[in-house]
Parts: sequence; C-alpha cells; structure tokens
Amino acid sequence: MVSSDQLPKNYDFAVVEERWRKSWRDEDHYFDTNSKKPQFVIDTPPPYPTGNFHIGNALNWCYIDFFARYKRMKGYNVMFPQGWDCHGLPTEVKVEELNHITKNDVSREEFRRMCRELTEKNIEQMRLTLRRMAFSTDWSNEYITMTPKYYSKTQLSFLRMLESGYIYQDEHPVNYCTRCETAIAFAEVSYEDRETQLNFFDFDGVEIATTRPELLVACVAVAVHPADDRYHALNGKSLTVPLFGHAVPVVQDEAVDPKFGSGAVMICTFGDKQDVHWWKQHNLPLRKAIDRKGLMTAISGKYTGLSTTECRKAILADMKAAGILKKQEKLEQRVGTCWRCKTPIEILSGRQWFIRIKQQEIRDAAHQIKWYPEHMLLRMENWIDQMEWDWCISRQRIFATPIPVWFCKKCGDMVVPDEKDLPCDPTLTKPKHPCPKCGGNEFTGEEDVLDTWMDSSISVLNVTGWDGTGKPKIFPAQIRPQGHDIIRTWAFYSILRSVALTGSKPWDHILVNGMVLGEDGFKMSKSRGNVIVPEELVGRYGADALRQWAATGAALGSDIMFSWNDVIAASRFQTKMWNIAKFALIQLEKEGIDENAPVTALADRWLLARLSDTVGTVSARMENYEFDEALKAIREFAWDVLADNYIELAKGRLYTEGASRKSACRVLYAAYDALCRMLAPFIPYFAEECYSYLNKGSVHKQPWVAFTFDDPVARAEGDLLVKVVAEVRKYKHDNGLALNAPLGKVTVYAPHTANDDGDTARTLNADVHWRTDKAHLDKVVSGIDFNRAVVGPTFRKDAGAFMEAVKALPAEELAHPPKTIKMNGKDLTVPENAFTPKYSYVEEGAKVDVITVGDVIVTIATK
Ligand SMILES: [Zn+2]
Ligand SMILES: [Zn+2]
Repeated sequence: MVSSDQLPKNYDFAVVEERWRKSWRDEDHYFDTNSKKPQFVIDTPPPYPTGNFHIGNALNWCYIDFFARYKRMKGYNVMFPQGWDCHGLPTEVKVEELNHITKNDVSREEFRRMCRELTEKNIEQMRLTLRRMAFSTDWSNEYITMTPKYYSKTQLSFLRMLESGYIYQDEHPVNYCTRCETAIAFAEVSYEDRETQLNFFDFDGVEIATTRPELLVACVAVAVHPADDRYHALNGKSLTVPLFGHAVPVVQDEAVDPKFGSGAVMICTFGDKQDVHWWKQHNLPLRKAIDRKGLMTAISGKYTGLSTTECRKAILADMKAAGILKKQEKLEQRVGTCWRCKTPIEILSGRQWFIRIKQQEIRDAAHQIKWYPEHMLLRMENWIDQMEWDWCISRQRIFATPIPVWFCKKCGDMVVPDEKDLPCDPTLTKPKHPCPKCGGNEFTGEEDVLDTWMDSSISVLNVTGWDGTGKPKIFPAQIRPQGHDIIRTWAFYSILRSVALTGSKPWDHILVNGMVLGEDGFKMSKSRGNVIVPEELVGRYGADALRQWAATGAALGSDIMFSWNDVIAASRFQTKMWNIAKFALIQLEKEGIDENAPVTALADRWLLARLSDTVGTVSARMENYEFDEALKAIREFAWDVLADNYIELAKGRLYTEGASRKSACRVLYAAYDALCRMLAPFIPYFAEECYSYLNKGSVHKQPWVAFTFDDPVARAEGDLLVKVVAEVRKYKHDNGLALNAPLGKVTVYAPHTANDDGDTARTLNADVHWRTDKAHLDKVVSGIDFNRAVVGPTFRKDAGAFMEAVKALPAEELAHPPKTIKMNGKDLTVPENAFTPKYSYVEEGAKVDVITVGDVIVTIATK
C-alpha cells in the first residue's frame, strides 16, 4: 500500500486526469488477433471530421467506452476501433469558404488535396479530445475513409456488387439539390412545412390548380379520374399547354382526387414522386425544364436561363396578362429539402448509379440482430416498408471515392479495373487492357463519385478484415453503437451491404442512443446559443464528471437533456468518494489487508451482503447496457450504504485495536476494491487513482468483480440495526442533542437480538440493550396541555381556578374528561377541547421516551 501521508486532501481532477493520461499506453487497448479469449468487436461510428467532437458524439462514445472497458474486465478480446468518415460536401464547402474559391476554380486534383489537408488537420484535433475523455480506443485499428487503403475497399465492394447485379446504371429521376449540384438519396431529404400559393388557371378550357407554374413547360399530360363525369368528353383528346403551345394527352388515372380543385391535374416531369409514378405508368415523354444548377433549360423559350423562382413570377405575370389566371389561394405544404443546405429538392432525370433495394433480405437480417432498446427495430421496419426507389449512390461532386469505371469511346461498353489495380481514379488513369469487346484504346473515365454512405456502410467489413472473399474470420462484429438519427442511413445501408457482400448480418447487437438536447430542451444550435462544447465541460469539471453525466442522464435510447446540475452532482459524488477513499485507506494502512480475516460483527456481514447485492445488480445492468441503472446502484451503495451507514456504525470499532477491527478492515477493503472495479468503466481516471493506492497495478487490468456473499439473516438484521441507529440519531437531533452526546440507557425490543459487537452503543454513545421479550411500558400522564383559545373566553377571570381544578382530577378522568367539574362549590360544564393530557412512559420504574421502527420498540431513558 501507498502511505496515507501521500493522500492529497482534495481530489484535483485536472492533475489526476493528466497524470494518468500520460502514463496509460495505447498497446493495452489493442485487439489481439492471436488471442484465445472470446472476441468483442465494436463497429464504432466514424465521425465526420469537422474538427469538433460534439456533445452528441461524446454521449455516444461514453456508452461505447463503458461497455468496451467492462467487456475487457469480463475477459473479452475487445476491438474498439476509431474511424473517420471523411468524404462529403461539408468539407468541400468549408474548403471553398476558407480559400475563397469555388470547386471549379482549381483542378479536381488540387481541390481534393485541399480537402485532404483540412481533413487531416481536423482529425488530429479530434483525436486529442478522444484521448482527453479517456476513451480506450484501439488506435492500431484506426481507419480513415479518404486514404487509398480504405477507399480501395469501397471500390472493391462496388465492383463486387456490380458483378452480382446489385449495382446498375440507369437514366432515372432522382432527388437532386441544385445548390449542392448533386443527386441525393431519399434518406437525405428532410421535410419542412412551408406556406405556398395554389394558382388556379385556365388550361385550354379546363381549370387546373398548381403550386409550381414554372413547370408548365414540362407538362406532358393532364390527368382526370376515370369516373369523373365532367371530363368524359375529353377522353382520348389532347389539350394545348397555355403560354407554350405544345399538345398533351388527357389520361385517366384512379389516383387522381376528383375533389381536389377542378379534379383535373397536370403531370409534369417532375413536380413530385407522384409525377414520376404517372410518367412511368402512362409511358409519357420526358421534358427536362430545370438543369442541374436549378435554371430553366432551352425548352423554356423566353424563360430560358431564369431561376425557378424568377420563372414562377414571370409565368404568373404572363398568365395574368393573358387573362387565364383565375384565382390564388394560400396553401400549407410539406416540402422536401436538402438535408445539408435546406434548398427545396428537385426531381431531375439523369444517368445515375443505383443499388437495388431487396426489402425482404434486409428485413430478415434486421430481425436476426438484437436491438437495444428493442423498439428501435420498429423504426428500421417502417423505413424498409417505405422504400419505393432504389438507392442512388452516384454524386456529382469531387471529394469522394471515385467510381472505378471507364466507358469505351468506340463501342460505349463499360470497362472496370482489375482488383489488384485498386484504388483507381478513372479520371486520371486508363484501363491496362484494350476494350474487351471492340479492342478500342480510347476511354472516358466516370466523373461521378460515390455517396459517402458507400464508404461508411462497409465500416464493419473493414474492421473485421474483409478482403472481397466472403465472410471474414471475425465477422460479424458483436455490436454497432449509433444514434437513432441515422437508423435509416448508416444502419440501413450497413445491413444492406453486409448481406449483399457476405450473405450475413453485420452485428449480433445494435445499441441505439438518443440525442443530446440543450438545457432548454431544444436541439442544440448556434442560433439558439444552447450549444455545450465537451472541452469546456471537461475543463471545468473533468472528463470523469462528463462521463458520469452521460451514464446517468437518460435511459438507453432516450434523448437526454444537458444539465449543468447533473455534471455538478457528478463532481460532488467524486468528492464524497474521495473522502470515503481517504478514510478507508488510513484504516487499511493501520491494520494491513487480510482478505481472510474472520468476519464477525453483524454490520460487517451486513455490508458484505449489501455489496454482494450491488455487484449482482450492476453486473446485470451492464450486460443489458443499462448504464444509468448500473451507475445509480453503485452511487447508492457507496454513498448511502457504505458512507452514511456502515462507516458510521463501524467507526468506533475501527478506532480500537482487536479482532473486530480486523473484521471491519476486511470488509472495508472488499468494498473499496469492488467500488474501484465497478467504477473503472465509468470514471476511469478516478478509479485508477483510488486503486493505485493499493499498489496492485492498474484497475483497468483487473477482472470484473465476482463478489458474492449470501447471508439473508445478516441482511435483514443489519437493515434493522441501521434503521434503529438512524431513528435514534434523528431523536437526538429533534431534541437538540449533539450526535455524539451521551444518551444513557437505550433498549431495543426486537424479534432477535443482534450481535452488533457494540457498534450501536458506540455509535449512539449510549448503554444499548437488545431484548427479545415484550416491552412492559406504563403509560402515565405527565402533564396537561390547556387550550387557551377555549379556556380563556369561557371562564375569563376564573380561568386560573378552572385549570387548578383540572390538574386536581385523578389520571383516569383526565383521559376521559367529565361533563362537569366542581369549582368554588359550583358544578360547571367542561367545554369541549378545553385540554388534552400529556403522556409519558415508565419502564421498570424509570421514565423513558419511546421510538418505534416498524414492529420494533426502542426505549430511551430520560434523565
Ligand atoms: Zn443542398
Ligand atoms: Zn469498345
């Protein structure tokens, strides 16, 4: 043991945390590929390297670190890798901003270089935060999706799925952001309520209502319900599009709502998903009115080159001038917008790459995974059921994994690289062989790049060592931890890709955490000013306090509201724990540690029974990832059971040498050791600091606590002991006595006598007797309380005489007051509620006060 002289008075988290951070070694957290231990592989989320590890990330990573550390202590070979999901638009936008350029001002290669440089800088910054928060990351399994090593795997997975028919290329309408100038997937469309205008106009004699008049040039048909009598005459006819003059057919379709507007709607390519559906259904032509920059195309005549908003204004003005605009109404509308920039989505048709969504396959795999909490599976199922379109994986951007494909200039055939030649950028290199079909030597490299989710959805394949040949040896991983906001993206795509590439589910478990809300209950945002930065929190209260907040803030899967009070409570718990630790260490130093010393006193047996219960609860909670319940149980044991009750009871014995001190020290050590180990996953710095005083190595290399102590009698009797002491202490307090004031004789009448080894007597500073017989108490009247509000007004100047007369009554008449009383020779009526007798108890001839604890009676001799 380390000498207690070296114990600092106060726990200084800043000093302690830095000291341990410097001495811990990365190698201790490496996954051992040769280990015989059971494996526990974590498919850690690769965060986007913005440079700031935000509080939501922190929550997510705390959960991961809790179970990573727990599993290591339970004897697992744990892999807790750290990835970085680099590619994507946010970095491109940042690079444009920082360098005051647009992506087209420099070469693609130069632009990529700038993106890589910024990303590297940001990753370095975020690594520091991860270390500061004491996450037990396996740095030997770090991966960065923008590196050739990683994206060659993304490309390999692309080629494999192209080969097996999952991936295809097609001209098809897709969601498109004209500001970001790229296709996006359905999962990246967010919806917003906006107010718009519904415009009613005359369409060649038919009234049409539209919110998007700028699409008039893209009108390819007018649809009516087949049973709508108003339009029977139009069947098979065509109509002329106003302002533009091209003819469009009238088609009948059950999906038209006859009650909306006039019951006739125009079909444009494309206003919404329904348009796409009708367009396919009725085999209509394609009129592209909006280009990839969001401007009107050449088919728009005099409106060519206008933005959609400008065009809308111009068309409405022209309709008005032509006298065909009949009325305008306000309309509440849900608009699909780009998740990134909030620009309303256009549906544009173009050549894109897609992954086939095989719903049943994904559903089956999702059902083979155990979901924590269980109801998150429902969210996945709902999303799978909603899928109508395949996943569009091509993007018209630059900083991303290139699609490894060329097209032969002569015959147009697709040529792919050999797998050994990956990674490849087809815009910079040529195929190594001539075109297999026509022998041509001229090729065009694919300029489209892959959706970022194509990189991150193989994270689990990457960490398990996938090389393109089926299932890796350590696949599937044991767990995927992630937020509920990316179930429809990351979880969905990962399952899809694992099934397509290995035929198997990606993980045994998925653990879904909630979002962190600001102190005001709203989503954190700069504009609300409710953003909490982990670094600030760690600077003020330490990483361990933040980790405690993460553990106790909410049940798994629930959103968690940030609260400084929780962080302060966490830091208070550490102060309390430090005081407990100092006390225990001083006692252990005096007595030495003897783990085999006989446990004699009731309080000692009781503490071990309660510790055994706590270890059982905490272990069960940890197995179910219920960190809030686990830490709550530890805190309760440490604070209530150990500090407030046990130590108060055993203090007297600990100050006296002898066998009973040995017994107390043995259980104190057991509790100390178990608390360090149970706290290790939650507050690794604090636990390491406390454990280090025992001189037994790092707490993080100890096995998880396996302590059991079965003694139901000690638990029941000890509970009583603790309650009696608490009640008598309360009695002292209520009677204005100091807690250590001497009390005289205290008798406890309980069903069993407790062999408390004198603990109760010492703690209460009293002569305590435990007895099993019945208490023989005589109730005697010891005084009278007069109700002056009744006595005064009734008797006025005779009040004093009345009270004297009452005091002279025999005791039994005081308990049941007579109707009249003799005063000055007259019988006077005794008013109701004029007085109540005061009682006290007499035991064996001495006056006592009485307290009851359930069925147990405690008497305290009064002087
Ligand atoms: Zn956008
Ligand atoms: Zn060819």
